[in-house]
Amino acid sequence: QVVTRFAPSPTGHLHIGGARTAIFCWLLARHSGGRFHLRIEDTDLLRSKQEYTDSILASMRWLGLDWDGDLAYQTQRTDLYNTYVDKLLENGHAYWCSCTPDEVEAMREEARQKGLKPRYNGCCRTRDLGPGEGRCVRLKAPLAGKVVFDDLVKGKIAVDVNELDDMVIRRADGMPTYNMAVVVDDHDMGITHVIRGDDHVSNTPKQILIYEALGLPVPRFGHVPMILGPDRQKLSKRHGARAVIEYQQDGLLPQALVNYLVRLGWSHGNQELFTPEELVEFFDGSNLNPAAAAFDPAKLEWCNAHFMREMPLAELAALTAPFVEEAGLGVLTQERLEPLCLMFRERANNLKALAESFRPLLVSAADLEYAEKDAAKHLTDGGKAHLSALVSVFAACEPFTAESIEAALNAYVADNGLKFKEVAPPLRTALMGFMGGSHLNEIMAFLGKEESLARLEKAAG
Ligand code: GLU
Repeated sequence: QVVTRFAPSPTGHLHIGGARTAIFCWLLARHSGGRFHLRIEDTDLLRSKQEYTDSILASMRWLGLDWDGDLAYQTQRTDLYNTYVDKLLENGHAYWCSCTPDEVEAMREEARQKGLKPRYNGCCRTRDLGPGEGRCVRLKAPLAGKVVFDDLVKGKIAVDVNELDDMVIRRADGMPTYNMAVVVDDHDMGITHVIRGDDHVSNTPKQILIYEALGLPVPRFGHVPMILGPDRQKLSKRHGARAVIEYQQDGLLPQALVNYLVRLGWSHGNQELFTPEELVEFFDGSNLNPAAAAFDPAKLEWCNAHFMREMPLAELAALTAPFVEEAGLGVLTQERLEPLCLMFRERANNLKALAESFRPLLVSAADLEYAEKDAAKHLTDGGKAHLSALVSVFAACEPFTAESIEAALNAYVADNGLKFKEVAPPLRTALMGFMGGSHLNEIMAFLGKEESLARLEKAAG
């Protein structure tokens, strides 16, 4: 059974790099009917905050990345880690070390001077020390050989053990170190596949040495490259990269963000757009790209626009409602929201912009403002005369529906030997305040007779 995990450190909100890693882990587990765990790596007591854990969990839920079992917090598992350190001491794969930090630094410096990789020289390996004040525990690493693993993303990686030294696994203060904790956790949770950012690739050989010393099976590893900015520099805010929670606030759809991020590092032929079900079906951990991908905000918007158009209208309306309220446009019923979404969804790339596009239709005629250029061009004497005439034309529409309005408008144009383009622009400016919006008859049907006529009268002056 495939078991994966996502292991964020709660030192900030969930960003798109972490989100993509989480999505990969989740998809791999769901694809194979396995399990997906979430572990909070909160051992950095100074920088870890509960509010970040809460925010990461909220982002995970919003993205639809449900996890199995209970949340694990590393700070609550110190005893477990220490039982494994004790096992290593017992089986001779670890030893107590009394070297002070200054002494270790001197050894590192000595190595550096010889042109070698800075490392602890292993002087306590054979001293057979026991526990004591100021003593840490180190792993007794093999003295020769290679650590080899087949990375799901990067392929075969081999590291000479000479590159590594006898790493500390429990600090002098009794706290297990990061690599020790991760190995114990991954083993204890039954993790079969460790997918993470490639900033951790140098930890992997160290972790493998711990697995081997404990006689535990080593999981598969996959290190995904970081996401770059469009200029192929390190991704940052200036590239439009933001925390997941900010995309949510901007009115992106989670399925669009998931789709976009998955494609940023994974491919399935040339297919760009996937339903969530297709992603689960196709994502099997292969076709992960070892080259770093560049973040493209425009493509993300394009992806979002696609999902906005494809989703059921009722769902779109429900999702847009909070944005309408937040824009100060009031609390609208589903019945009012649906025609608005239908009229404008082809024209907006996110829910926030969609809600904003409703504004001209939701203010009162008295508050409607005109775009100066459009008013000057279309609310001319001729335009106003049409508007005055149209007031009585539309007043006669009963019932006042998109169909009856369209018929009345067409008849007005035909009966007076006019062209549609002589009448539509002043009418549009009168209704919307600018030359934008949707079909005129649909706009009027939405506004209702009274409000539509008030707008025509106001514009006709
Ligand atoms: N806590 C680590 C991070 O946030 C993840 C380590 C791992 O996945 O093994 O980068």
